[in-house]
Amino acid sequence: MPATVKTLCPYCGVGCGLELVQQKVRGDRQHPSSQGMICVKGGTIMESVTRDRLLYPMMRDSLEGEFQRVSWDQALDRIVERIQVVRSHHGADGICVYGSGQFQTEDYYVAQKLLKGCLGTNNFDANSRLCMSSAVSGYIASFGSDGPPCCYDDLEATNLAVIVGSNTAECHPIIFNRLRKHHKSRDDVRLIVIDPRYTPTAEAADLHLAIAPGSDIALFHGIAHLLHQWQALDHAFIAQHTQGWADLLTILQAYPPPHVANLCQISTDDLHTAARWWQESDRVLSLWSMGINQSVQGTAKVQSLINLHLMTGQIGKDGAGPFSLTGQPNAMGGREAGGLAHLLPGYRLVSNSEHRAEVEQFWGLPPGAISSQPGHAIWDMIRALEQDQVGLFWIAATNPAVSLPDLDRVNRALRRSPLTVYQEAYHPTETTAFAHILLPATQWSEKTGVMTNSERVVTLCPAFQPPLGEARDDWQIFAEVGKRLGYADFFPFQNSSDVYAEFARLTHGRPCDQSGISHHALTDRPIQWPCPAGTAPRSHGLRLYRDHQFPTPDRRARFGLAHHHGLHEPPNSEYPLIATTGRLYGHWHTMTRTGRIAKIQKMHPEPLLEIHPRAAAARQINDGDRVEIRSRRGKIILPAKVTKAISPQVVFVPMHWGALWADNAAANALTDPAACPISKQPELKACAVQVTNISLIPARCSGEVVASHADSQE
Ligand code: SF4
Repeated sequence: MPATVKTLCPYCGVGCGLELVQQKVRGDRQHPSSQGMICVKGGTIMESVTRDRLLYPMMRDSLEGEFQRVSWDQALDRIVERIQVVRSHHGADGICVYGSGQFQTEDYYVAQKLLKGCLGTNNFDANSRLCMSSAVSGYIASFGSDGPPCCYDDLEATNLAVIVGSNTAECHPIIFNRLRKHHKSRDDVRLIVIDPRYTPTAEAADLHLAIAPGSDIALFHGIAHLLHQWQALDHAFIAQHTQGWADLLTILQAYPPPHVANLCQISTDDLHTAARWWQESDRVLSLWSMGINQSVQGTAKVQSLINLHLMTGQIGKDGAGPFSLTGQPNAMGGREAGGLAHLLPGYRLVSNSEHRAEVEQFWGLPPGAISSQPGHAIWDMIRALEQDQVGLFWIAATNPAVSLPDLDRVNRALRRSPLTVYQEAYHPTETTAFAHILLPATQWSEKTGVMTNSERVVTLCPAFQPPLGEARDDWQIFAEVGKRLGYADFFPFQNSSDVYAEFARLTHGRPCDQSGISHHALTDRPIQWPCPAGTAPRSHGLRLYRDHQFPTPDRRARFGLAHHHGLHEPPNSEYPLIATTGRLYGHWHTMTRTGRIAKIQKMHPEPLLEIHPRAAAARQINDGDRVEIRSRRGKIILPAKVTKAISPQVVFVPMHWGALWADNAAANALTDPAACPISKQPELKACAVQVTNISLIPARCSGEVVASHADSQE
């Protein structure tokens, strides 16, 4: 290992720069996004990289059998043979690949070329579908293209930050640190937090709007209604740069303050304050994440928030704009590389014939080789498994047996798969139980590739230690399968630098233009896109739409025109509470890494249910009691944490604990797979539940932590 290595934290979409000196991790002060700051996850990353790793390919004939070690040739031959059978008997759409925002961009790109190019199926989706696909579809619907228009420098340039559906302080802590410093240091900077929970983020706010779950659109329309009433609009911007204002105005008439206050369960005073502050601020920055995206109205929520920026001209200038925060480290790179079932590389769409033709030509494919039909999003894949339409299910770098909604149903569907390949760095995970073939993948520190963070900054993550066992890079595995299927000419890459160079050329002229970026250029410093070939690379401070020209046919942005519909599962007498899910500060997703780190396990030793004292008293629940949480789909058992940090109608369950880490504690046993019809992102943030105190019932304790890997290895 070199004495000093500069790389990127592989956990979340903040994308903090790390510096490893003699195996010790610290923040990279030169990284433009994080400026030397890191959180506990980044600081402990090295503890996770060698524990419980999958070292060799393994296979078994049935899910009941034992895995046997096999060679790479045996495993790859089995996969290739299966692909050929599925293609000839069922067609290529019988093949489904489910990837991950943990991929580097090169992994994503090669997988797209294999699936969408060579095999002719768009059935590649990624776990980013659960995380930010509503942001993608909202941006596309409003602006004509994906792409967060803001950058982190806006955190220090705004005078009103509106955080919606995001516990930024815990889930994107370094972004929050930057914003909080600015907020604290200036009297003229305000912070509004919109969240049903009183989180550490809300604690820092000048105004906390604890709106009823699912009422975001009503709130945004209510603020818009008042801004219109007060004539606080940018009429020139609306006239010159937007479409749909008259239709939106008709919709806004239905959202007078008393009605909105009632729908959102907030006071009209607070609604007026939020609208007044928006009116008074000349630089308004909104930041959002899962609380908006994970909803049956995810796209409409994103667009309704963007409406506020468009009607007041709060976009394309310093300190202003709608800014989605990505969850995963390279969800952004996945979007750029076309890593969802409806996308193609370079922010192109499967449904757009010009986009398909451009990619076909670039890849040397005949016209029509890329299917015009969007592939299966992950929940379509689950349905296809239920209907025995999947001949090969290939999962990589993700843990759907914990992270998908309605887990009982998911697990039943996964059991129907005739052949499941699981390409993963760790072993076991909860998904291992559903696999027939295990392929060991290298991970961060062992492979070289790039990742893009929420502010469009691309950072090179170099390999600085050898792969463990026989692990291979994800892109190499996809390319090798392609070669064995007879597509060697499509995968001439000697290394990941070659892969990135090809991908970057394909982005030329697109909104996410990276044709001026290369691995070599990134060895000096991270680079923010757009960075067309021939332009001087910049590492921060770039904003989109400064000229107010949007990538739509008439260069105008579109107002979103949706009404508030509320929750898919409103509470009723049988299920009177709303369960919301989310992350805790220290843990990452399904704990595949952080569950193996003792310091983080000590920080968050067990799962819990947050419940308001009034809701707890009505059920005779005391702090620490074991409670059963039951939805229409399943039940879990957790210790109760009685707290005023949550509304009386809402309970909170962290999403992290799967069967490997605690019995009967998986939040997604409860959650609802109903999804936004446009983004196909499920409503993971809200489902109707009942909570019952069962602490007096003697039973094998559930919600009880299973002997942890972190402990067992100390
Ligand atoms: S904020 Fe995110 S990217 Fe930064 S150190 Fe923490 S987990 Fe890593």
